[in-house]
Parts: sequence; C-alpha cells; structure tokens
Amino acid sequence: MVVAGIEVELVQKDIKNLHLAVYPPNGRVRLAAPMDVNERTLELYVTSKIPWIRKQQRKFTSIDRQSERQYVNRESHYFLGKRYLLRVHETDHPYRYPKVECKTKTYIDLFVKENYSTEQRAELMKEWYRVKLKDILSELVPKWEAILNVKANQVKVQTMRTKWGSCNTDNGNILFNIELAKKPIECIEYVVVHELLHLIERKHSDLFKAYLDKYVPNWKMQKEALNQGN
Ligand SMILES: [Zn+2]
Repeated sequence: MVVAGIEVELVQKDIKNLHLAVYPPNGRVRLAAPMDVNERTLELYVTSKIPWIRKQQRKFTSIDRQSERQYVNRESHYFLGKRYLLRVHETDHPYRYPKVECKTKTYIDLFVKENYSTEQRAELMKEWYRVKLKDILSELVPKWEAILNVKANQVKVQTMRTKWGSCNTDNGNILFNIELAKKPIECIEYVVVHELLHLIERKHSDLFKAYLDKYVPNWKMQKEALNQGN
C-alpha cells in the first residue's frame, strides 16, 4: 500500500486494533490491521499519521545514516566533521592490530587481523570513536561546568538511536551519543552546553533558549548541522 508516497507494508491478521510502526534503520513503515477493515479506512488512518511517520523516519535517517558501512578500503568515514577515506591494513603482527589511527588529513587507518569480519571492524571503529569522544568531552564538560556553574554527576558515551544527548535532571547523569564523534567540534560543544543547561532548566522553555542564545549564539546552526547527517 502506498500513501502519499510512503510505502506501507500491510499485515492483516486476527487483532482488534490498528497498529502502525516505523522501523530502523531505513524507516520502513508497517501497519498491522484487523482482517475486516477496508482499504479506504486504512488509507485514511495512515494519512492522518503522516506527520508522525515522517517524524519517526527523520529520527532514523539523521542518526543511522551511516549504519550500512562495510569497513573496506576507500570507504568514507567521518571524524569531527571531516571526511576521511578508510585504509584497511590486514596484519597478523601482534603489536599492530587491532587499532585505529587518524594521523593524516586523508586517511583513517584500520589495522585488523586477517579475516576480521565486518562486525569486528565496526566494533573496533566504534570503540575508537568512543575513546576519542570521551577525550573531547573530558575537556568540554569541565569547561562548561565552570562557565555555567553546574556539575554533572556521571558523563557517559553510548549508542543512542534518536538523540544526540540526554540529561537526567533527577540524578544529574548525562549521556552523549557516540555518533557525535563524527560531527564538527562546534556541534559537540553545542550538545554539551545544551545538556548541561538542563541542570539549570529542565524544559526547552523560553528561558532555556535564552540561555542557549547567550552561551552558544549560533546554536540553531549547530542543531541544523547535527541533523543533516553526512
Ligand atoms: Zn534538551
């Protein structure tokens, strides 16, 4: 079924209610419906949900766009907003693998053991991004804690599906999305300020935005850049 250009996988089965879902990584849309509902009704239902569907799909495309990597030579990979080509070195030398290096303007070097699977390569790159991002955060977080006069409890880096960061205002724990390592440092800094500001103002209120305007005058640009993907 296609509604307003959106392909919807329709599954009719013995259930009572309509159930619409959008799945990562590509934003596939699936509608489960009772057997006796006619197609017109289903179309109207999906039409009424289009803004919601698009919103879900945007979340996936903004963050998961890079998920289909193969980790082979000359593949593009991003680090701090710059594009690099991957160079894969297969070696059995015990001191040279597994490791990732970014020492030139052009290449990210991936040292792996022969026959390392795509998943193992992906995992290696991910750990490298995690370490790099933690390094950056270990400078930016204290810097902004001092400026804003706040203190985060725990700062963690993890895989997050739909957000760049989050702040638990009850315990002061802040999470950052590991994918931030691929973004320009200005974007990372914006997310740091954003999450720390939640320790002052829980909601995205006018006051919150006024703080952002004060501390990161170009925050809207950074927000836009984050969600464009690369
Ligand atoms: Zn927020």
